Amino acid sequence: MKTHLLLIKLLTLLVLSTSQHFDFFYLVQQWPGSQCDSKFSCCYPTKGKPKPDFGIHGLWPNWINGSYPSNCDSNSPFNSSEIIDLVSQMESHWPTLSCPSNDGQKFWGYEWNKHGTCSKSVLDQHDFFSTTLKLKTQINLLGALQDAGIHPNGSEYTMTSIRDAIKGARGYTPWIECNRDVSGNSQLYQIYLCVDSSGSRFIECPVTLAKKCSPSIKFPLF
Ligand code: AMP
Repeated sequence: MKTHLLLIKLLTLLVLSTSQHFDFFYLVQQWPGSQCDSKFSCCYPTKGKPKPDFGIHGLWPNWINGSYPSNCDSNSPFNSSEIIDLVSQMESHWPTLSCPSNDGQKFWGYEWNKHGTCSKSVLDQHDFFSTTLKLKTQINLLGALQDAGIHPNGSEYTMTSIRDAIKGARGYTPWIECNRDVSGNSQLYQIYLCVDSSGSRFIECPVTLAKKCSPSIKFPLF
């Protein structure tokens, strides 16, 4: 009987530990102009308006079946003292836009607790944030778009031209998410790129996401 119970415990542990494994990451970046001209009411961070660039939303562990783990370890809560050396980079590349105006720790803590704890076996808290910053700088989405003549000036661009500009310049196919401005126009909201499960390199996405954009979308000013 005792061996039986031990076996059940071991199996449960095995299931729990493998259920936290994941297949790849999404690096999700957000155009602040599309966050702020939508129904989401924006507040600029305490230090002021972020620069007109894509901001990091998060690095999200995902499974190839399309679902994802979340809030994996309440025993490893966000600890701002572990990322003191990264704060100025975080303020510039991972700005909060939530209200009331704040310094960003709440957004970063939310992202760590929801997503980061699920890739803790690969990236500890400091690595999770430093890796995300490194990937964001490496891919330089705004640079890729501007080099192809796609500028955040309120003009409309075809979905294909945006996707092709990024794929052509950086080598990886992005997934584009749109939202609507207050007048109902479809606009470029978030760009997803896939990263291997060690967080070391971009990969082609192993799954295709459903499209929610009009064929032609706005790239608003910020
Ligand atoms: P997630 O659960 O990781 O998909 O993140 C979604 C949450 O992040 C929602 O509560 C959003 O309101 C919030 N969010 C998205 N973008 C930002 C941003 N730039 N600043 C602060 N919160 C944000």
